[in-house]
Amino acid sequence: MYKLIDGKKLAHKMRAAIKEDIEGYKAASGKEIGLAVVLVGEDPASQVYVRNKIKACEEVGIKSYAYYLDENTAQARVEELIKSLSVDGKINGILVQLPLPSHLDSKKILELIPFSKDVDGFSAENMGRLCMNEPCLVACTPNGVMKMFESEGIELSGKNAVVIGRSNIVGKPMAMLLTNANATVTLCHSRTRDLKAKCLEADIVVAAIGKAKFITADMIKQGAVVIDVGMDRDENGKLCGDVDFESVKEKCSYITPVPGGVGPMTITMLMYNTYLSATRS
Ligand code: NAP
Repeated sequence: MYKLIDGKKLAHKMRAAIKEDIEGYKAASGKEIGLAVVLVGEDPASQVYVRNKIKACEEVGIKSYAYYLDENTAQARVEELIKSLSVDGKINGILVQLPLPSHLDSKKILELIPFSKDVDGFSAENMGRLCMNEPCLVACTPNGVMKMFESEGIELSGKNAVVIGRSNIVGKPMAMLLTNANATVTLCHSRTRDLKAKCLEADIVVAAIGKAKFITADMIKQGAVVIDVGMDRDENGKLCGDVDFESVKEKCSYITPVPGGVGPMTITMLMYNTYLSATRS
């Protein structure tokens, strides 16, 4: 019998704890905590993400500063804004909502965010520190997955973990976090040979592919823990994950649903990182 890891419930619990920590910090320091959210253009999905992030800030007591820039904003203007936020004492975290319009050089813009305010954890410095297992701001989605393991008391040390997907925002930091937690990690991607055989060896499978219901029951070992990071649409346009939940669940010890699994943890970890960055400054 499998156990469902309820990300919505865990995120709710964690946000209440973060709110309490933030209240304590504010009372002790007399300071506010500020998160700058920069959105360029009118991409509808990005607008929803930004709205949700601002709402989460209100919920936990972080002051949000939203910067809505026109779709055609010049590179120099965005750079100027990031530079000014970087030295602004009331801003503890800077988040640039991706993707940026194609005329902008995202890499150059993101590189301007100092690592201490890089609450997304995407900077080379934060990624490098993560690789070296040093204190850093960790990318929110994989860090949320680690909190799920922790909350369920899932042992990672010595386990075989397979991470499918090697993006800089999910797969790679996930593999690093699992390595740092003493799991033996295989990081798979589109060129991996015989993915099924690799998955069948895994005690823990983390799917971050972006392909609806790609992971099927025949790829999963009996009793494995399956974490579904995917946010995809099925043939009827309904939100689903990278894992074929209905068939896979019967073989798992633990599994995350989509929606209501990893998704709610991501913004929660953003709040956590903003709090951390305030306490470290
Ligand atoms: P991405 O940058 O597109 O990366 C996808 C990865 O999957 C790539 O490494 C790719 O391999 C690999 N892949 C593609 N086809 C494959 C195949 N047939 N076999 C094995 N590996 C394959 O995606 P991402 O940004 O990491 O996101 C992944 C999924 O997570 C998406 O559904 C996204 O919406 C979701 N997501 C959810 C959250 C959340 O909060 N829940 C946050 C971020 C992302 P190559 O490198 O070889 O191309």
